[in-house]
Amino acid sequence: MCYYLVGLIQKSLDLKLILHVKGYYLQCLIIFIISDFKEYIRHAIFHKVGPLWKLHEFHHSATDLNMITNYRGHFLETALAKFFDVIPYIILGAPIHSYILITSFVEIHHLFVHSSVKSDWGFIGKYFLVSPAAHRIHHSTKNQHYNKNLGATLIIWDKLFNTFNPSEIVSEVGIPNNPYNKRGYINDIFICIKRFAKCSIHDIGEFLKKYKS
Ligand SMILES: [Zn+2]
Ligand SMILES: [Zn+2]
Repeated sequence: MCYYLVGLIQKSLDLKLILHVKGYYLQCLIIFIISDFKEYIRHAIFHKVGPLWKLHEFHHSATDLNMITNYRGHFLETALAKFFDVIPYIILGAPIHSYILITSFVEIHHLFVHSSVKSDWGFIGKYFLVSPAAHRIHHSTKNQHYNKNLGATLIIWDKLFNTFNPSEIVSEVGIPNNPYNKRGYINDIFICIKRFAKCSIHDIGEFLKKYKS
C-alpha cells in the first residue's frame, strides 16, 4: 500500500532531482547521505514524541544485543517508518537499483551494530560510521545515555546535533522495569499496541484541553 502510494506521488511530482547529478556512484552517495539524515530525524522523533516512543520502546526493551535485535521492531513502528523512508526517494526520484544498493549496505551495517561484538571500530567509528559500541550506548540502561547516538549509519549527525556520546563499554542494555519479555512475543506485541493507544489518547486529550483554554 505504502509503495503504491509512493509510486503515485513520484509519478505525479516527477521531480527526479538526482538526475541533475552526473555519475551513478555520486548519485548513490548523495541519496545515501540524505536518507541517513532522514533516518536520524526519524529516530529522534520516535524518541521524543510520547506515543511514538511507546512503539520504539519495544526495540529498546531487548536485554541483550545480537544480530536478530536489528529486526526486533514493532510492526506499527515499521509501517510508520516507511512513510519517512520514502521521502528522499520521492524528492530525488532515485532509480530502484540505487535503492537496492544503499539498502543492502545499510542493512548489513545495522546487523553489525546490533551484534554482540562491542568494538568501537577505532578511526572509522570515531569519524565515519556508527559502531557497535556506539549503538550499544544508545541501548544502555543508564540515564545519561538516553537519547544519545541516534544516528543510523553515519556518525556525523550525532556530532552536529550534540547527541554524540563517545564510546565506552556498556554492559547492561534495555529499559529498566519495562513490561516486556515476560509472557512471549505475541503478548509483547499487544502490550505495545495498548501502551501506544493509551499514550495517544492521553496526549490528544491534553492537546484538546490546551486548545480549548
Ligand atoms: Zn532508539
Ligand atoms: Zn537498535
